[in-house]
Amino acid sequence: MTTTNLVDCPECGLPATARSEGRAWSTGGPVEHLRLHCVLGHRFFGPAEMLLRPLRAA
Ligand SMILES: [Zn+2]
Repeated sequence: MTTTNLVDCPECGLPATARSEGRAWSTGGPVEHLRLHCVLGHRFFGPAEMLLRPLRAA
C-alpha cells in the first residue's frame, strides 16, 4: 500500500509530499523510510523518524 502525506520540508519548512517507501533495515532495526519532495524541489529520502522530526523545538 502506498500512502502520501503532506509534511513540513526539513530544509525550508514548506509543504512537502511524503511517500512511504516501505521498511528498510537500519542500525536500530527495521524503520519506515519516506521519500519527500517539497514545493521548492528539495528531495529527501531516509527514515521517517529522521525526516519528520522538527529541526527546532516548537
Ligand atoms: Zn524544501
